[in-house]
Amino acid sequence: MALIIDGRKISQQIRDEVRDQVAAYKAQGKEITLAVVQVGEDSASTVYVRNKQKACEYTGIRSIKIALPASITQEDLLAEVDRLNRDEAVNGILVQLPLPKGLDANAVIRAIDPLKDVDGFHPQSVGALSIGLPGFVSCTPAGIIQLLKRSGIEIEGKECVIVGRSNIVGKPMAMLMLRENATVTVCHTRTRDLKEVTRRADILIAAVGRAKMFTADYIREGAVVIDCGMDRDENGKLCGDVDFSDCEPRCAAITPVPGGVGPMTVAMLMQNCLDSVRIQAR
Ligand code: NAP
Repeated sequence: MALIIDGRKISQQIRDEVRDQVAAYKAQGKEITLAVVQVGEDSASTVYVRNKQKACEYTGIRSIKIALPASITQEDLLAEVDRLNRDEAVNGILVQLPLPKGLDANAVIRAIDPLKDVDGFHPQSVGALSIGLPGFVSCTPAGIIQLLKRSGIEIEGKECVIVGRSNIVGKPMAMLMLRENATVTVCHTRTRDLKEVTRRADILIAAVGRAKMFTADYIREGAVVIDCGMDRDENGKLCGDVDFSDCEPRCAAITPVPGGVGPMTVAMLMQNCLDSVRIQAR
Protein backbone atom coordinates (compact mmCIF):
# COMPACT_ATOMS: atom_id res chain seq x y z
CA MET A 1 0.00 0.00 0.00
CA ALA A 2 1.35 3.38 -1.00
CA LEU A 3 1.66 6.29 1.39
CA ILE A 4 -1.12 8.69 0.39
CA ILE A 5 0.42 12.14 0.73
CA ASP A 6 -2.13 14.31 2.52
CA GLY A 7 -1.96 17.77 0.98
CA ARG A 8 -4.86 19.04 3.09
CA LYS A 9 -3.06 18.18 6.32
CA ILE A 10 0.32 19.54 5.20
CA SER A 11 -1.20 22.75 3.83
CA GLN A 12 -3.01 23.21 7.14
CA GLN A 13 0.31 22.86 9.02
CA ILE A 14 1.83 25.56 6.81
CA ARG A 15 -1.14 27.89 7.23
CA ASP A 16 -0.91 27.43 11.01
CA GLU A 17 2.82 28.17 10.99
CA VAL A 18 2.22 31.29 8.89
CA ARG A 19 -0.61 32.36 11.22
CA ASP A 20 1.72 32.11 14.24
CA GLN A 21 4.42 34.15 12.54
CA VAL A 22 1.95 36.77 11.30
CA ALA A 23 0.70 37.09 14.89
CA ALA A 24 4.30 37.58 16.05
CA TYR A 25 4.75 40.38 13.48
CA LYS A 26 1.46 41.93 14.60
CA ALA A 27 2.71 41.92 18.19
CA GLN A 28 5.60 44.09 16.92
CA GLY A 29 3.09 46.40 15.21
CA LYS A 30 3.76 45.06 11.69
CA GLU A 31 0.93 44.16 9.33
CA ILE A 32 1.29 42.13 6.12
CA THR A 33 -0.92 43.11 3.20
CA LEU A 34 -1.68 41.23 0.00
CA ALA A 35 -3.31 43.06 -2.91
CA VAL A 36 -5.27 40.74 -5.21
CA VAL A 37 -6.20 42.19 -8.59
CA GLN A 38 -9.06 40.57 -10.50
CA VAL A 39 -9.85 41.80 -13.99
CA GLY A 40 -13.31 40.86 -15.26
CA GLU A 41 -15.68 38.34 -13.69
CA ASP A 42 -14.50 34.91 -14.83
CA SER A 43 -16.23 32.50 -12.43
CA ALA A 44 -13.18 30.24 -11.87
CA SER A 45 -11.03 33.30 -11.12
CA THR A 46 -13.65 34.56 -8.66
CA VAL A 47 -13.45 31.22 -6.78
CA TYR A 48 -9.62 31.31 -6.75
CA VAL A 49 -9.58 34.91 -5.51
CA ARG A 50 -12.12 34.09 -2.79
CA ASN A 51 -10.00 31.13 -1.63
CA LYS A 52 -6.94 33.34 -1.41
CA GLN A 53 -8.88 35.93 0.59
CA LYS A 54 -10.15 33.21 2.95
CA ALA A 55 -6.60 31.97 3.51
CA CYS A 56 -5.56 35.56 4.28
CA GLU A 57 -8.37 35.84 6.83
CA TYR A 58 -7.22 32.59 8.46
CA THR A 59 -3.57 33.55 8.65
CA GLY A 60 -4.17 37.17 9.69
CA ILE A 61 -2.77 38.64 6.47
CA ARG A 62 -4.73 41.70 5.38
CA SER A 63 -6.10 41.30 1.86
CA ILE A 64 -7.31 44.00 -0.46
CA LYS A 65 -9.27 43.00 -3.53
CA ILE A 66 -9.03 45.30 -6.51
CA ALA A 67 -11.83 44.43 -8.94
CA LEU A 68 -11.33 45.95 -12.38
CA PRO A 69 -13.65 45.75 -15.39
CA ALA A 70 -12.81 43.40 -18.28
CA SER A 71 -12.93 46.48 -20.50
CA ILE A 72 -9.93 48.08 -18.77
CA THR A 73 -7.09 49.13 -21.08
CA GLN A 74 -3.61 47.69 -20.77
CA GLU A 75 -2.34 51.16 -19.87
CA ASP A 76 -4.84 51.59 -17.02
CA LEU A 77 -4.09 48.09 -15.69
CA LEU A 78 -0.36 48.83 -15.69
CA ALA A 79 -1.07 52.13 -13.91
CA GLU A 80 -2.97 50.20 -11.21
CA VAL A 81 -0.03 47.80 -10.76
CA ASP A 82 2.31 50.79 -10.55
CA ARG A 83 0.12 52.37 -7.86
CA LEU A 84 0.32 49.13 -5.82
CA ASN A 85 4.09 48.94 -6.39
CA ARG A 86 4.45 52.39 -4.84
CA ASP A 87 2.01 51.79 -1.97
CA GLU A 88 4.26 51.11 1.02
CA ALA A 89 1.41 49.43 2.90
CA VAL A 90 1.24 46.67 0.24
CA ASN A 91 3.68 43.77 0.67
CA GLY A 92 2.46 41.41 -2.04
CA ILE A 93 0.74 41.92 -5.40
CA LEU A 94 -1.07 39.15 -7.22
CA VAL A 95 -2.85 39.61 -10.54
CA GLN A 96 -5.26 36.71 -11.02
CA LEU A 97 -4.68 34.96 -14.35
CA PRO A 98 -5.87 34.41 -17.00
CA LEU A 99 -6.60 38.00 -18.00
CA PRO A 100 -9.47 38.81 -20.37
CA LYS A 101 -8.66 38.78 -24.10
CA GLY A 102 -6.70 41.77 -25.34
CA LEU A 103 -4.64 42.22 -22.18
CA ASP A 104 -0.98 41.17 -22.15
CA ALA A 105 -0.41 39.04 -19.04
CA ASN A 106 3.37 38.91 -19.55
CA ALA A 107 3.61 42.70 -19.60
CA VAL A 108 1.53 42.88 -16.41
CA ILE A 109 3.73 40.29 -14.69
CA ARG A 110 6.85 42.24 -15.72
CA ALA A 111 5.31 45.43 -14.29
CA ILE A 112 5.01 44.00 -10.76
CA ASP A 113 7.83 45.05 -8.42
CA PRO A 114 9.92 41.85 -8.01
CA LEU A 115 10.06 42.60 -4.27
CA LYS A 116 6.24 42.21 -4.17
CA ASP A 117 5.98 39.34 -6.66
CA VAL A 118 4.36 36.79 -4.33
CA ASP A 119 3.28 34.58 -7.27
CA GLY A 120 6.95 34.24 -8.26
CA PHE A 121 6.18 34.76 -11.96
CA HIS A 122 8.36 37.85 -12.61
CA PRO A 123 11.41 37.15 -14.83
CA GLN A 124 13.62 38.41 -12.00
CA SER A 125 12.11 35.88 -9.56
CA VAL A 126 12.53 33.11 -12.15
CA GLY A 127 16.13 34.16 -12.82
CA ALA A 128 16.93 34.31 -9.10
CA LEU A 129 15.61 30.77 -8.68
CA SER A 130 17.73 29.56 -11.61
CA ILE A 131 20.98 30.90 -10.18
CA GLY A 132 20.22 30.12 -6.55
CA LEU A 133 19.56 33.64 -5.28
CA PRO A 134 16.81 34.36 -2.75
CA GLY A 135 13.46 35.45 -4.13
CA PHE A 136 9.86 34.38 -4.53
CA VAL A 137 9.20 30.89 -5.88
CA SER A 138 6.10 29.93 -7.85
CA CYS A 139 3.60 28.53 -5.32
CA THR A 140 2.64 25.14 -6.81
CA PRO A 141 6.22 23.82 -7.26
CA ALA A 142 7.23 25.26 -3.89
CA GLY A 143 4.26 23.38 -2.39
CA ILE A 144 5.41 20.12 -3.97
CA ILE A 145 8.82 20.44 -2.31
CA GLN A 146 7.02 20.85 1.03
CA LEU A 147 4.82 17.80 0.34
CA LEU A 148 7.93 15.69 -0.28
CA LYS A 149 9.98 17.00 2.63
CA ARG A 150 7.17 16.87 5.16
CA SER A 151 6.35 13.31 4.10
CA GLY A 152 9.93 12.28 4.83
CA ILE A 153 10.74 11.60 1.16
CA GLU A 154 14.41 12.06 0.35
CA ILE A 155 15.10 14.06 -2.82
CA GLU A 156 18.91 14.22 -2.94
CA GLY A 157 20.44 11.91 -5.55
CA LYS A 158 17.05 10.70 -6.79
CA GLU A 159 16.04 10.44 -10.45
CA CYS A 160 13.25 13.00 -10.84
CA VAL A 161 11.22 13.11 -14.03
CA ILE A 162 8.91 16.09 -14.54
CA VAL A 163 6.37 15.87 -17.35
CA GLY A 164 5.37 19.39 -18.40
CA ARG A 165 7.51 22.49 -18.97
CA SER A 166 5.15 25.39 -18.27
CA ASN A 167 6.54 28.57 -16.74
CA ILE A 168 4.39 28.21 -13.62
CA VAL A 169 4.82 24.50 -12.84
CA GLY A 170 7.25 22.40 -14.90
CA LYS A 171 10.20 24.77 -15.29
CA PRO A 172 10.35 26.14 -11.71
CA MET A 173 9.78 22.57 -10.47
CA ALA A 174 12.89 21.46 -12.37
CA MET A 175 14.94 24.30 -10.81
CA LEU A 176 13.72 23.45 -7.31
CA MET A 177 14.47 19.75 -7.69
CA LEU A 178 17.96 20.62 -8.95
CA ARG A 179 18.41 22.87 -5.91
CA GLU A 180 17.50 19.83 -3.79
CA ASN A 181 20.20 17.81 -5.59
CA ALA A 182 17.91 15.51 -7.58
CA THR A 183 18.94 14.37 -11.06
CA VAL A 184 16.28 16.05 -13.17
CA THR A 185 14.73 15.21 -16.54
CA VAL A 186 12.00 17.40 -18.03
CA CYS A 187 9.61 15.89 -20.59
CA HIS A 188 7.06 17.51 -22.93
CA THR A 189 5.04 16.79 -26.04
CA ARG A 190 8.16 16.25 -28.19
CA THR A 191 9.74 13.73 -25.80
CA ARG A 192 10.36 10.44 -27.56
CA ASP A 193 9.22 7.29 -25.77
CA LEU A 194 7.83 9.07 -22.72
CA LYS A 195 7.11 5.82 -20.87
CA GLU A 196 10.71 4.72 -21.17
CA VAL A 197 11.77 7.99 -19.48
CA THR A 198 9.08 8.08 -16.78
CA ARG A 199 9.80 4.45 -15.83
CA ARG A 200 13.28 5.57 -14.76
CA ALA A 201 11.85 8.00 -12.20
CA ASP A 202 12.25 7.60 -8.46
CA ILE A 203 10.07 10.71 -8.24
CA LEU A 204 7.62 11.37 -11.07
CA ILE A 205 5.92 14.77 -11.23
CA ALA A 206 3.00 14.93 -13.66
CA ALA A 207 2.03 18.44 -14.81
CA VAL A 208 0.43 18.06 -18.22
CA GLY A 209 -3.27 18.82 -17.77
CA ARG A 210 -4.45 15.52 -19.35
CA ALA A 211 -6.99 13.54 -17.30
CA LYS A 212 -5.62 10.19 -16.04
CA MET A 213 -2.92 10.08 -18.73
CA PHE A 214 -0.40 8.29 -16.50
CA THR A 215 -1.32 4.65 -16.04
CA ALA A 216 0.70 2.02 -14.12
CA ASP A 217 2.85 1.24 -17.18
CA TYR A 218 4.43 4.73 -16.93
CA ILE A 219 5.58 4.06 -13.39
CA ARG A 220 8.50 2.27 -11.86
CA GLU A 221 7.69 -0.05 -8.96
CA GLY A 222 8.26 1.86 -5.72
CA ALA A 223 8.23 5.36 -7.28
CA VAL A 224 6.90 8.51 -5.60
CA VAL A 225 4.23 10.06 -7.82
CA ILE A 226 3.17 13.70 -7.55
CA ASP A 227 0.10 14.71 -9.53
CA CYS A 228 -0.33 18.42 -10.30
CA GLY A 229 -3.29 17.89 -12.62
CA MET A 230 -6.64 19.54 -12.02
CA ASP A 231 -8.56 17.91 -14.80
CA ARG A 232 -12.09 16.60 -15.43
CA ASP A 233 -12.82 12.95 -16.14
CA GLU A 234 -15.43 11.68 -18.62
CA ASN A 235 -18.16 12.36 -16.02
CA GLY A 236 -16.98 15.90 -15.34
CA LYS A 237 -15.50 14.90 -11.97
CA LEU A 238 -12.26 16.51 -10.77
CA CYS A 239 -9.27 14.20 -11.32
CA GLY A 240 -5.55 14.39 -11.89
CA ASP A 241 -3.09 13.62 -14.67
CA VAL A 242 -2.45 10.27 -12.95
CA ASP A 243 -4.85 7.34 -13.00
CA PHE A 244 -4.79 6.99 -9.22
CA SER A 245 -6.41 3.57 -8.78
CA ASP A 246 -4.25 2.02 -11.50
CA CYS A 247 -0.95 3.54 -10.25
CA GLU A 248 -1.33 3.53 -6.47
CA PRO A 249 -0.47 -0.18 -5.99
CA ARG A 250 2.89 0.33 -7.78
CA CYS A 251 3.89 3.46 -5.83
CA ALA A 252 5.76 3.99 -2.59
CA ALA A 253 3.86 7.28 -2.20
CA ILE A 254 1.33 9.20 -4.26
CA THR A 255 -0.71 12.41 -4.06
CA PRO A 256 -4.48 12.15 -4.57
CA VAL A 257 -6.61 14.61 -6.56
CA PRO A 258 -8.31 16.36 -4.88
CA GLY A 259 -6.43 16.73 -1.61
CA GLY A 260 -2.82 16.51 -2.84
CA VAL A 261 -1.00 19.31 -4.63
CA GLY A 262 -4.08 21.54 -4.96
CA PRO A 263 -4.36 22.78 -1.35
CA MET A 264 -0.61 23.54 -1.24
CA THR A 265 -0.71 26.39 -3.75
CA VAL A 266 -2.67 28.81 -1.56
CA ALA A 267 -0.71 27.76 1.55
CA MET A 268 2.55 28.62 -0.23
CA LEU A 269 1.07 31.94 -1.33
CA MET A 270 0.55 32.71 2.36
CA GLN A 271 4.15 31.63 3.02
CA ASN A 272 5.36 33.95 0.22
CA CYS A 273 3.38 36.85 1.72
CA LEU A 274 5.08 36.19 5.04
CA ASP A 275 8.49 35.94 3.35
CA SER A 276 7.86 39.28 1.62
CA VAL A 277 8.64 41.05 4.90
CA ARG A 278 12.10 39.47 4.99
CA ILE A 279 12.72 39.97 1.26
CA GLN A 280 11.69 43.63 1.43
CA ALA A 281 13.86 44.28 4.49
CA ARG A 282 17.07 43.49 2.55
P1 NAP B 1 0.29 23.92 -19.43
O1 NAP B 1 0.78 25.30 -19.40
O2 NAP B 1 -0.83 23.56 -20.36
O3 NAP B 1 1.53 22.96 -19.76
C1 NAP B 1 1.35 21.60 -19.96
C2 NAP B 1 2.70 20.97 -20.23
O4 NAP B 1 2.51 19.58 -20.41
C3 NAP B 1 3.38 21.48 -21.51
O5 NAP B 1 4.75 21.68 -21.27
C4 NAP B 1 3.14 20.35 -22.52
O6 NAP B 1 4.22 20.18 -23.43
C5 NAP B 1 3.08 19.14 -21.62
N1 NAP B 1 2.23 18.10 -22.18
C6 NAP B 1 0.93 18.18 -22.51
N2 NAP B 1 0.50 17.01 -23.02
C7 NAP B 1 1.54 16.17 -23.00
C8 NAP B 1 1.73 14.84 -23.39
N3 NAP B 1 0.73 14.12 -23.92
N4 NAP B 1 2.95 14.29 -23.25
C9 NAP B 1 3.97 14.98 -22.72
N5 NAP B 1 3.86 16.28 -22.32
C10 NAP B 1 2.66 16.85 -22.47
O7 NAP B 1 -0.19 23.41 -18.00
P2 NAP B 1 0.24 23.89 -16.52
O8 NAP B 1 -0.28 25.26 -16.27
O9 NAP B 1 1.66 23.57 -16.25
O10 NAP B 1 -0.67 22.90 -15.67
C11 NAP B 1 -0.50 21.49 -15.71
C12 NAP B 1 -1.59 20.85 -14.84
O11 NAP B 1 -1.41 21.29 -13.50
C13 NAP B 1 -3.02 21.25 -15.23
O12 NAP B 1 -3.90 20.17 -14.97
C14 NAP B 1 -3.33 22.39 -14.29
O13 NAP B 1 -4.72 22.53 -14.03
C15 NAP B 1 -2.60 21.94 -13.06
N6 NAP B 1 -2.21 23.02 -12.14
C16 NAP B 1 -2.55 22.86 -10.85
C17 NAP B 1 -2.22 23.83 -9.93
C18 NAP B 1 -2.61 23.63 -8.51
O14 NAP B 1 -2.75 24.57 -7.77
N7 NAP B 1 -2.78 22.39 -8.09
C19 NAP B 1 -1.54 24.97 -10.32
C20 NAP B 1 -1.16 25.09 -11.66
C21 NAP B 1 -1.49 24.10 -12.57
P3 NAP B 1 4.63 21.28 -24.55
O15 NAP B 1 5.38 22.35 -23.80
O16 NAP B 1 5.49 20.54 -25.50
O17 NAP B 1 3.35 21.78 -25.13
